[in-house]
Amino acid sequence: MQLDGAVLHEIALEMGITDDEISTRKAFLEFGESDIAHLRILHDELKGIRAEVVDAFYNHLLSFGETRALLGDDSHVEHLKSTQSQYLDGLTAGEYGRSYTCDRLRIGIALQRIGLGPKWYLGAYHKYLSMLFPHLWEEGGLADQATLENMRALLKVVFFDMGIAIDTYIHDRQKNISLKMSQLAALNQVAAALTSSLSLREVLDEVMRCAIAFTHSKASCIAFYDQAEGLFKEWVTQGLSEHFVSHMEFRRGGLADEAFTSGAYVPSNDLPGTRHQLSRLAREEGIRSFACLPLTFHSQPLGVLYVYRDDRDEFEPDEIELLTTFANLAAGAVNNARLHARMTDLASMDGLTGLSNRRTFDERLSIEAARCMRYQNRYSMLMLDVDHFKKVNDSYGHPAGDAVLRFLAGLLRCQVRTAVDMVARFGGEEFAILLPETDKAGAYCVAERIRRAMEKSRIPLPSGESIGVTVSIGICGHPDSGYSAGEIVANADKVLYRAKQEGRNCTRVFGDLPDYIACPG
Ligand code: GH3
Ligand code: MG
Ligand code: MG
Repeated sequence: MQLDGAVLHEIALEMGITDDEISTRKAFLEFGESDIAHLRILHDELKGIRAEVVDAFYNHLLSFGETRALLGDDSHVEHLKSTQSQYLDGLTAGEYGRSYTCDRLRIGIALQRIGLGPKWYLGAYHKYLSMLFPHLWEEGGLADQATLENMRALLKVVFFDMGIAIDTYIHDRQKNISLKMSQLAALNQVAAALTSSLSLREVLDEVMRCAIAFTHSKASCIAFYDQAEGLFKEWVTQGLSEHFVSHMEFRRGGLADEAFTSGAYVPSNDLPGTRHQLSRLAREEGIRSFACLPLTFHSQPLGVLYVYRDDRDEFEPDEIELLTTFANLAAGAVNNARLHARMTDLASMDGLTGLSNRRTFDERLSIEAARCMRYQNRYSMLMLDVDHFKKVNDSYGHPAGDAVLRFLAGLLRCQVRTAVDMVARFGGEEFAILLPETDKAGAYCVAERIRRAMEKSRIPLPSGESIGVTVSIGICGHPDSGYSAGEIVANADKVLYRAKQEGRNCTRVFGDLPDYIACPG
């Protein structure tokens, strides 16, 4: 941050250094007009030795490892010396109002920023005084009253400066503490918000919203790593244009991979010397910088969190610190929500085929049945059973039977409208399909399509062999084959039994079917 007059003025006000405060401090130091007059006299006297004092002062600083490390190379030391010379010049120049105070504030902040702590600062003032006093003593011949007054005036102004300098340290610590406290409060709030929902989508949205709010950024993205494929496969975004989202990609070995594998934050911007320059896509989106942070839960990497900003080229260190803590918290919440989603899936899904299980089918069927009874709508249900499945198990083994069931599940998924129809494993080698808004004639076409597709298929087995398997299907339609869900299932089962009795590899319908049925294919 550039310390110009306006910024210094603002900092002075923040620290409570108003004109009144300056007057109070001077009054307490008994720093008055006569002191100013003495300092003006000293100004001319000290002019001749200023360079000598500055040199001696820097030799002193260079003789201590800790302070030497702060001073930098020779050219930097020369720059600091010239600033020091200006400081000495100002000390006795005779103007001690607001601009003097702001100037001292600037020096205090600058030294504090290079890491010079109060112990060195106070030592430095001591060095000044002990170099200046002998000179004044000699100038005054025998220490006369005037020399004494000069020394007193010098002491007062130096103590005034010290007060300002030390206050800059205290002010900075206070600011840091209150920043940390507000960050802690924000994180607490986030932790509560994140754990209040178990919906993965809600948790992800909340994580991105907080990441944007914490850093006053433009947008955010969370990408998940697919361990099996070794790449980022799924992602969600907030605040990015459709154009950006449809063109974004996660290159192997790219920035996200780096954050993911190193477990550390990776920045990207267009500043000179940056390791990851912005892409053209990012620049077109108005992004000036972004940060990519790993989302890790119990040392298990899950994915990455991106935060994009359009106002600055960089993130401040305290923003990164906050985001890092936040990302750890977020990873825990994301992990929980993913586990919950997986458990919910497992509870409603059949483990072998990935289809809905019997319980989920029954729930959906009773909702559909109630809706159709109320609004007098239609729907159909298919009950499907593998023919002579026992023989498959007996001849080729149980794993072969499993392969047949998985194959059939895949085929059924392809043959229905996934958004509206529901395919479930009803039990064993029986499957049920719910077709909303479909009459028996429509259901018959679907059933025949499935039956014929199965008839034509050769199913690869784990042994490398392949076999053909057929299915029998029973169809029921609401309202003409039954009203309640229980009736529909029982009647579908009945006609399925008839299909088995009448030779298998065929479809039978409960009740009449219009003569005009002609199914394509
Ligand atoms: P049908 O044509 O009359 O339906 O004869 P089927 O042999 O298919 O009928 P049956 O009910 O006699 O046999 C069903 C077999 O399905 C018996 C059971 O062991 C087997 N089965 C049920 N669930 C699974 C499964 O998950 N995996 C395997 N491999 N077999 C299963
Ligand atoms: Mg069977
Ligand atoms: Mg059966």
